[in-house]
Amino acid sequence: MDSHRTETPREKLEGWLRYFDDLNLGEFYVDRGSMAKRSVRRPVERAAVSPPAQPTMVAAPPEIEPAAPILPVVNVPSLFEVLDRVEGDTLELIRDNLGECTRCRLHKQRNKIVFGAGNPRAELVFVGEGPGHDEDIQGLPFVGRAGKLLTQMIEAMGLRRDDVYICNVVKCRPPENRRPEDDEVATCSPYLYRQLDAIAPKAIVCLGGVAAQTLLKTKDPISRFRGNWFDFRNTKLMATYHPAYLLRNPAAKGEVWKDLQKVMVHLGLEVKKPSR
Ligand code: SF4
Repeated sequence: MDSHRTETPREKLEGWLRYFDDLNLGEFYVDRGSMAKRSVRRPVERAAVSPPAQPTMVAAPPEIEPAAPILPVVNVPSLFEVLDRVEGDTLELIRDNLGECTRCRLHKQRNKIVFGAGNPRAELVFVGEGPGHDEDIQGLPFVGRAGKLLTQMIEAMGLRRDDVYICNVVKCRPPENRRPEDDEVATCSPYLYRQLDAIAPKAIVCLGGVAAQTLLKTKDPISRFRGNWFDFRNTKLMATYHPAYLLRNPAAKGEVWKDLQKVMVHLGLEVKKPSR
């Protein structure tokens, strides 16, 4: 488990350098001055992240494709048949409603329910598949090796982990980290819909096929639609590869970084062209 010991600044820097090296951004640099200024003047409230009158986005690098159109290819309205919006819903209320849930068989082997963590007013929500071993022990999402990579991805976007909200489709660890069954997803995902409705972010990023297929109601492989924008209950949604997949296939990090740059543009975050 990697989260029992706080990383030294040197270890953290080395992790960053390895991450950017994988992206072939050999001379990428972070303007600490502007990041520090932004973090000071940018509180967690949504409006402060993306002031419409003064977008903070600068010229995107040439390799970034223009924002993809929203593709109306999924039957998203059917989700309203699953769960209507709950007026005045909050994350606290949803967590209370979940309780010590035994609604599906995944409760039998779990240690802790992993509800979600982060800013309840986040502009950006990451949705993964389900808890793994480390998450099950700690009750927190994305705290293992894949979580460490997700943190690097978030920080590469110029955000802190506390700025975003992170959760999963199912809240209990599937045994042996197997893929959640359809009935388990169907039982647990209404709580995810309520979380997303309560947070009302500007963008949702699905990490991996299960999250994307659940929210988009499709069985298509993620490789067919990742990197495109979709409309999910009036929020822009994009799917990209899961960090665990990137640990096994580091060459795909560049594709994920392109996806995240589109999200940055949508959020009005500064996208810097790497210096070469
Ligand atoms: S996975 Fe979801 S529905 Fe199943 S027991 Fe856990 S919290 Fe309940």
